[in-house]
Amino acid sequence: MSLPSTELEGPPAFEPWGRYPKYNARIVPLHWRGDFPAVTDKIHDSALPVGMGRSYGDVCLLKDGILLLTTGMNRLIDFDPETGLLTAEAGITLAQILDFAVPKGFFLPVTPGTKYVTLGGAIANDIHGKNHHVAGTFGCHITRFELVRSDGSRMICSPTENPDYYAATIGGLGLTGVITWATLQMKPIVSRLIDYEGIQFHGIDEFLDLTEQSKNIEYTVSWVDVTSTGKNFARGVFMQGDHSSKRDELKPSPKPKLVFPFDAPGFALNSLSVSMFNTVFFHKQIHKRVVALQDYEPFFYPLDKVLHWNRMYGKSGLLQFQYVIPWEHAKEGTAAILREVAKSGLASFLAVLKAFGDVPSPGMMSFPKPGITLALDFPIKPEKSFPLFARLADMTREFGGRLYPAKDAAMTAAQYQAFYPQWQRFARFRDPMLTSSFWERVTGDQPSI
Ligand SMILES: Cc1cc2nc3c(=O)[nH]c(=O)nc-3n(C[C@H](O)[C@H](O)[C@H](O)COP(=O)(O)OP(=O)(O)OC[C@H]3O[C@@H](n4cnc5c(N)ncnc54)[C@H](O)[C@@H]3O)c2cc1C
Repeated sequence: MSLPSTELEGPPAFEPWGRYPKYNARIVPLHWRGDFPAVTDKIHDSALPVGMGRSYGDVCLLKDGILLLTTGMNRLIDFDPETGLLTAEAGITLAQILDFAVPKGFFLPVTPGTKYVTLGGAIANDIHGKNHHVAGTFGCHITRFELVRSDGSRMICSPTENPDYYAATIGGLGLTGVITWATLQMKPIVSRLIDYEGIQFHGIDEFLDLTEQSKNIEYTVSWVDVTSTGKNFARGVFMQGDHSSKRDELKPSPKPKLVFPFDAPGFALNSLSVSMFNTVFFHKQIHKRVVALQDYEPFFYPLDKVLHWNRMYGKSGLLQFQYVIPWEHAKEGTAAILREVAKSGLASFLAVLKAFGDVPSPGMMSFPKPGITLALDFPIKPEKSFPLFARLADMTREFGGRLYPAKDAAMTAAQYQAFYPQWQRFARFRDPMLTSSFWERVTGDQPSI
């Protein structure tokens, strides 16, 4: 067993994906699943476990404390090819799991739009994927995990063992303890390929019709053009697919070769360039309907092809805004928010629209609920972006929706507490040594050490 040095070591910079806010984090790497309580004997600041920093904002930051970097804790512990149950240390990435499991005929039960996230990070944000309407969240497929608390206690959590901590930790933003290992139910596949179909739509009604027609298709997601108004308002491409049932070679994925090489200047992304991108993307699919067999990499992870693509937004970074609005107000709320975004001129070319299904999330604080979710990226222009975010968050609240902490760097304490009224019940499960900049911002809580 390798214990970490008690010196504060590690890479000097740990940034969230949106590169905002920026703090000079102090980092202690965890190399082994027993490390956390040993570390707490030596350090007396508050701390936060972190993974790959693929959250956009400050759920993976702690301004005056220590980040416990879990990525060195990445061993595969057990895999049963009969049942598909895979147990691994929590710092393993989904990319590492895929490299191991795909050649054996297994795939992740739920995956986000990047494979460079850790197992622990995926649980702590209870992430969702393109199959939410049939498979629910990532946490639905976590059968057990170990939670280690700063006092050295270790707990096995599952729906039947310490069920309160199981529910608080799934979607628990890293605040209930360090997840050291977890068991995940993988799903069988016979091919790397996806039976893909892309369909152009114009407007939210057409999007909703396509959603209804694709209820039995495993993966659905849409790209929507948020810059267009008039007859092109809410035009987009509805993308759907199932794992191909035709047997095929199950090779591991090649390593990505492209890296975004530098921080782009602030003027590179403006409303004109984004609107041009959107027009090209919409018309790239020249036919109303396109059918193809596509490898799972471009289907699930188109953005992973260029490592560090967030540099495209320059040093000031980007903000992401993701809401879910329940069905009752989903259509009017989405139309109103899309209009507000178009009016602001703060264009976003990564705009993803999806319907969440009604599979219940196991986490006490999980984000998804039935309705429409929309995720938008914006370059940070402080005088414009933050007022727009405040308006969009208030609109989300008026329509009965909520925002996703994993993507957030701007919601206020009042907004968060209205979105997640159960937050005080959840706070009872927090480890007294663990906190985050997000948690302090949205609860007004001070570090407890
Ligand atoms: C390009 C891109 C696409 C994305 N697409 C999606 C998507 O489709 N759906 C979706 O839901 N999300 C999506 N995300 C967000 C991402 O999946 C989540 O933010 C995820 O949680 C990041 O994992 P991470 O390993 O980087 O964790 P970090 O961002 O480092 O940390 C995330 C949270 O996990 C906690 N944590 C990390 N490790 C542990 C541990 N061992 N024990 C306890 N707590 C821990 C941290 O404290 C923090 O609160 C996307 C992000 C990017 C950059």
